Amino acid sequence: MGVEIRTGARVTQVDAHGVVFNGERIPSRTVIWTAGVTPSPVGKWLGVPLEKGRVKVDSHCEVPGQPGIFVVGDTAAFDIGNNKFLPGVAQVAMQQGKHVGRVISSRLAGYPPPPAFRYFDKGNLAVIGKKFAVLEVGKLRMAGRVAFMVWAVVHLIFLGSPGNRFRVAGQWLWSFFSGQRGSRLIMGPGGSVPLIDP
Ligand SMILES: Cc1cc2nc3c(=O)[nH]c(=O)nc-3n(C[C@H](O)[C@H](O)[C@H](O)COP(=O)(O)OP(=O)(O)OC[C@H]3O[C@@H](n4cnc5c(N)ncnc54)[C@H](O)[C@@H]3O)c2cc1C
Repeated sequence: MGVEIRTGARVTQVDAHGVVFNGERIPSRTVIWTAGVTPSPVGKWLGVPLEKGRVKVDSHCEVPGQPGIFVVGDTAAFDIGNNKFLPGVAQVAMQQGKHVGRVISSRLAGYPPPPAFRYFDKGNLAVIGKKFAVLEVGKLRMAGRVAFMVWAVVHLIFLGSPGNRFRVAGQWLWSFFSGQRGSRLIMGPGGSVPLIDP
């Protein structure tokens, strides 16, 4: 789609004239920063060891030394060895949530805990543009409209209730055919900032 991607490069400067990384400047009047989200401050509240702002947890997603406190999803740093941690994606959050539910119910019932949490990677889906997505499940790789349809169906299936599915499907159809986005922009620096609908 005409986008050049450069990986393994750390941005060191963004200014009115462009962006600098690896000592190289790319001149531009417009720079769009999409480098991730800030972890929840919950780790600081707990006063426990953190990994890049995320709370380190054990094999049952429980905070070491804090029995009864579980952390799942984006806020949890779940070690998978070699100093690597599970990614902050929905699959991880959902599977960890289910696991912790089982741990708590077995603990309350006085049963032994279930086996340690193991993440099952079902694959990756990402939307790249209108009517265009990429899919990677095991050895299957696909890009284009069919992957886009799969992405949409999968996301609707995993929404919590039929009402949500209808609402989201309706919003998507509206955006798709009208070309108008429902997303909101945050304007201005820090603190309480006005949100505008474009
Ligand atoms: C733009 C974007 C696109 C993404 N796309 C994908 C994707 O395509 N596929 C994928 O797998 N993952 C995607 N993710 C990541 C995915 O959304 C997260 O990994 C997942 O939602 C994590 O679930 P969670 O329950 O840990 O946190 P969240 O879903 O963030 O839920 C945390 C909830 O806690 C609430 N909360 C926060 N602080 C407080 C407080 N103090 N008191 C009460 N409530 C509070 C928040 O409002 C929120 O509702 C995307 C994330 C972003 C930001």
